[in-house]
Amino acid sequence: MDFSLTKEQKMLLDSLKDMGKRENFKELAVQIDATGEFPHHLTGKYAEMGLLGMTLSPEYGGGGEPSITAILAIEELAKHSPMIAAPVFESNVGPVRVIDMFGTEQQKKSIIPGVCEGNHSVSVCMTEPEAGSDLTSLETFAEDKGDHYILNGRKCFITGGGFASHYLVYTRFGEIKGYKGIGGIILKKGMPGFTFGKQEEFMGLRGMPSCDLYFDNVKVPKEDVVIQPGDFGNLMLTFDIERCGNAAMCLGTAGGALEAAKNYALQRKAFGRPICEFQDIQFTVADMAMKLDAARLLVYRAATGAGQGLPSVYEASMAKCYANEMVREVTDKAMLVFGGYGYSKDFPVERMLRDARAWGVAGGTLQMLRITMASMLFGRRFDQRK
Ligand SMILES: Cc1cc2nc3c(=O)[nH]c(=O)nc-3n(C[C@H](O)[C@H](O)[C@H](O)COP(=O)(O)OP(=O)(O)OC[C@H]3O[C@@H](n4cnc5c(N)ncnc54)[C@H](O)[C@@H]3O)c2cc1C
Repeated sequence: MDFSLTKEQKMLLDSLKDMGKRENFKELAVQIDATGEFPHHLTGKYAEMGLLGMTLSPEYGGGGEPSITAILAIEELAKHSPMIAAPVFESNVGPVRVIDMFGTEQQKKSIIPGVCEGNHSVSVCMTEPEAGSDLTSLETFAEDKGDHYILNGRKCFITGGGFASHYLVYTRFGEIKGYKGIGGIILKKGMPGFTFGKQEEFMGLRGMPSCDLYFDNVKVPKEDVVIQPGDFGNLMLTFDIERCGNAAMCLGTAGGALEAAKNYALQRKAFGRPICEFQDIQFTVADMAMKLDAARLLVYRAATGAGQGLPSVYEASMAKCYANEMVREVTDKAMLVFGGYGYSKDFPVERMLRDARAWGVAGGTLQMLRITMASMLFGRRFDQRK
């Protein structure tokens, strides 16, 4: 087992650390949270640095790097803010990977180069008002009209909603019930009948666009089908890459909270001594580091195992579940180290704690991940309806 990073990966992380200082990401993170505005100006800079689409196929402008390289970059940038890492997340471990792996030549040519240049982005559209964890109950429907489909339905909580250029929509294609009738279709922003609801106001992840999508008799050409009904398994497999990205966001936020807590504990005095001299503070910080490292190993295992392909469902579920819980715990402990100041918006840990809560819901809840792991451990499916 080799835990060392390659020379190129180390150089990449050094360049991101330098960028963080040069661009004052610490202050930018505060601004994003205060204004709720996404840092769109970073996208062009990331494209110039080759960070966008670094895992995508070189034939279409991608970097051909393994998933772990993107995971490392996401973690480093998310130490400041998940919004600062978001373009790297979306372009490397987001639904564009589905297009890269399973799309047609035409779909790849028309979408991937734009993603690598920062002109396109792709949102994943699964959740519906009555179908979240119970995804296979989704009701969005694509009616076959010969050379095209007519799409009707509604999605909710769609990250990038209203801002992304393309939307990978999970839809039912026929009367077949359950997952066998579900496939994936690409919609472009601006198509007649395709509209957006109001932007969500979340507890954390301020600045992240998210809204409902409405499909009202949207005419979609047949060549825009990415995953045929019946190949739903492929959609879910690629989703495991996204789960590793979600977990990398947790590593980043927890890393940022650990750093902030350590620095604070070295400076803050109580009873005439720096608080880092109190054993409880030492143990708290040591526990934070231990949990973070344990999560990191799970995430790196899942992403490294995947190489340029797909991670194992079991490893990705375990990594996401553990990292989702770890980041809640670590940010909570960081807040304790800060005392009353931890609860103040003048310090970063209250923001990190709010951001931390999202990841255990987005991309599948903690319970659903445990159900997946359990079914792998027992070697059988557990039908939740029975
Ligand atoms: C920040 C954020 C970003 C998101 N981004 C996207 C996106 O880009 N695209 C997208 O499609 N969706 C997105 N979502 C939606 C997300 O995937 C869903 O919210 C999630 O899958 C849960 O679905 P739900 O909210 O309908 O909860 P429900 O499915 O209603 O679940 C409610 C509770 O019941 C539990 N539960 C349900 N069934 C079981 C069971 N069988 N056993 C045990 N417990 C169970 C759940 O774990 C949960 O705790 C996002 C959500 C958030 C918060």
